Amino acid sequence: MTEIYKDGSPDQLQQELLSCVRAVKGQVLHHESLSVGLDCRTKITEKKKLKSVIKNIENSLEGVRQEVTSCQLCALSGTRKNVVFGDGNPHAKIVFVGEAPGADEDEQGLPFVGRAGQLLTNIITAMGLERSDVYICNILKCRPPGNRNPLPEEIRLCEPFLKKQLQLIAPQIICALGSFAAKTLLKTETPITALRGRFHAYEGIQLMPTYHPAYLLRNPPAKKFVWEDVQMIMKKINV
Ligand code: URA
Repeated sequence: MTEIYKDGSPDQLQQELLSCVRAVKGQVLHHESLSVGLDCRTKITEKKKLKSVIKNIENSLEGVRQEVTSCQLCALSGTRKNVVFGDGNPHAKIVFVGEAPGADEDEQGLPFVGRAGQLLTNIITAMGLERSDVYICNILKCRPPGNRNPLPEEIRLCEPFLKKQLQLIAPQIICALGSFAAKTLLKTETPITALRGRFHAYEGIQLMPTYHPAYLLRNPPAKKFVWEDVQMIMKKINV
């Protein structure tokens, strides 16, 4: 302090600070003495309000995100760098559901930000939308090491988070990207080739399965089928 205020008197500054602290303390004591007089009913109302705020947070997307962020239900929590909860418009009409985060997603904590993600962004743009118009998430919220397939137990433990997410967003349409997403959500073993191209029902929401963008990177001719599928989605959204 002596250093900073070398042009003034340190003693004077100390006195000013002390009187500020005393004034603030006085205000706090004044408010405390007022609240002693609050009647019991007011206190109960305040408590109820606080409880309902807490409940709202728990039932919000943010609440689910917090739950997932601290999740340690499976071994993937020990190898993840970041949880990849989901991203986009929480009031979106369309939700894209992929399989699981890859290395780029694990690094950034965001879904579909690698090469497959770039292709998904192109698909969304071709639909006349932006990424911020839709919501994007995955079946698994943590990266399986070496990008191996999700294990049935990992899916079983992680799926309730997705279910809650979809309930809260309540989109008009879900687009399941690839075999894992489609089979998990529709509880079927039918291959994606037979599932895609038509709408199915998931908890009262219309679901269109289509090929995963990573598959399109390996097999570009399949892009035409995805284009057909997303056009069907756009027709539904625009009526
Ligand atoms: N593949 C997926 O299924 N999800 C991602 O987030 C990235 C790649």
